[in-house]
Amino acid sequence: MPAAEPLASRFWRKVDKTPGYGPHGTCWRWIANTNEDGYGTIWLSPKVIKATHAVWLLTTGALPVDQMLHKCDTRDCVNPEHLEDGTHPENMRQMMERTQRRRDTLPTDREQVRQLLMHGQHSHQAIADMVGVSRAVVTRIKNGKAWAR
Ligand SMILES: [Zn+2]
Repeated sequence: MPAAEPLASRFWRKVDKTPGYGPHGTCWRWIANTNEDGYGTIWLSPKVIKATHAVWLLTTGALPVDQMLHKCDTRDCVNPEHLEDGTHPENMRQMMERTQRRRDTLPTDREQVRQLLMHGQHSHQAIADMVGVSRAVVTRIKNGKAWAR
């Protein structure tokens, strides 16, 4: 069932962030399809992926290399702060810091990047440093596809 609707809007509609779920009450519950192991799943053309991979893609801009681990032991939780990239724990820590920063200020970041790009006097790296996002994100915003995937 390929959908024209962007992943982000399809994804967040299926997440219940009501406090109180999970061991610390901060889990975000996946309320749509799950696989036989209890992990959330979502369609990302051309295949079905785990919801944990989808949220990683949405918050970091990249799919995890291998598998995602839950620090909260709640399989249908999709809070990126509770997830670890099982392959690269080192990179993960740095990525989480970026994720948290970006998640808190996402719309502002985006607007700021756009404004700076419009002025045309800063390199992508300079803009990334100023706003606190990765250079790849700046480039994708410039190309107009940062949040549409
Ligand atoms: Zn959790």
